[in-house]
Amino acid sequence: MSEQRWVYPETNHASFGISNKLILKDITLREGEQAADVAFSLDEKIQIAKKLVAAGIPEIQVGFAASMRDCQIAKTLKSQDIGVPLDLLVTGFISTWKEQIDNALQYGSDMVDFVFRSDDQNISALGINREQAKMRVSEIVDYARSVGAVKIIFAPSFSTRANFDFLMELIDNAISSGATGIAIPDSTGVADTETIRNLISAVRTKSKDIDIIAHYHNDFGLAVANTLEALKSGANIVEASLGGFGERAGNVATEEIAFALQLLYEVDLGLNLKKLAEAAKLVFQLSKSQIPAMKPIIGSNIFAQKIDVHIMTTRIRPWLLEPFDPKIAGAERKLVLGKGSGSYAVKEKANLLSLDLDEKKIGEVVYKVNEFAETNKHALTDKDFIGIVKSVSR
Ligand SMILES: [Zn+2]
Repeated sequence: MSEQRWVYPETNHASFGISNKLILKDITLREGEQAADVAFSLDEKIQIAKKLVAAGIPEIQVGFAASMRDCQIAKTLKSQDIGVPLDLLVTGFISTWKEQIDNALQYGSDMVDFVFRSDDQNISALGINREQAKMRVSEIVDYARSVGAVKIIFAPSFSTRANFDFLMELIDNAISSGATGIAIPDSTGVADTETIRNLISAVRTKSKDIDIIAHYHNDFGLAVANTLEALKSGANIVEASLGGFGERAGNVATEEIAFALQLLYEVDLGLNLKKLAEAAKLVFQLSKSQIPAMKPIIGSNIFAQKIDVHIMTTRIRPWLLEPFDPKIAGAERKLVLGKGSGSYAVKEKANLLSLDLDEKKIGEVVYKVNEFAETNKHALTDKDFIGIVKSVSR
């Protein structure tokens, strides 16, 4: 039999109707900072933006047009020729929306991207009715056009909780006024893939030419699935945040959706995945957050093995047990000792650490390794293991 490599399921983008001309827009600097524990300085934001561009990310949302600090970041990035389109988000339901649009364009936003509530509960909380909401959306698009915006994106926030017919009316108003893009945000992370499919398909049938933007939250762990479903249903722009940082349970993680699209679906995003993984790690570092060991793409344990047969297999034919070559993510395989490790794992670890281990004592070491892991609830450090080997060698 010929040598096998990492082979992914039959999920080529073309067979699922995913466009090969997608834009992966990173929103870490805006939405990522809305995560409860995250606050970046101006310098840190510049650093993240540069990492994103180095990884090949083609568009960056920098912050809110209502925030002068965020506007300054856009201005600084422009003055340093960042080389990708920038976006300062306009909050259309706040009375200062005109001023925000002016700021966005003046400080270097390459588009007018605005949110306006679309669900009845939030609209009535604004003290207006549906008709007034529709009028305001048209007014915002008209104003953006009048001041020279070419790209105008309308994001009806809470769209997955909106009345379907009314949502479509809002979107029709935006498109007929000249919006060039429509986002379908699942602001509260409550949609499932079927809901997303229905909404995105409905918008795509309105126009072949408009941009459709997927913006998904991870409250039920569905952000990646919903994003993929949106792309299969006609969306062409994905908003994602490094590490998944965002409000509440966060957003679809930039690195996760990028790996899925490039590796599983063979979409040519032109990204350097290793650099993107580094960018995600940088965001954890700058926000002083610990990367969960099992976190996809960047977790320290995603290429770790502790069971004998798995260690043996990954040494000889890693593609049998791993999803992709760890090098793609800049990761390394790890042999760890813990609950379930047997004599092969123990011998390998002893070799790696150049420890003298009496063949007759291996059974005892294996027993103690398992006992240690069970008692201490974690894999053994090298020091823990050396201690055990010494204790049985006496
Ligand atoms: Zn969001």
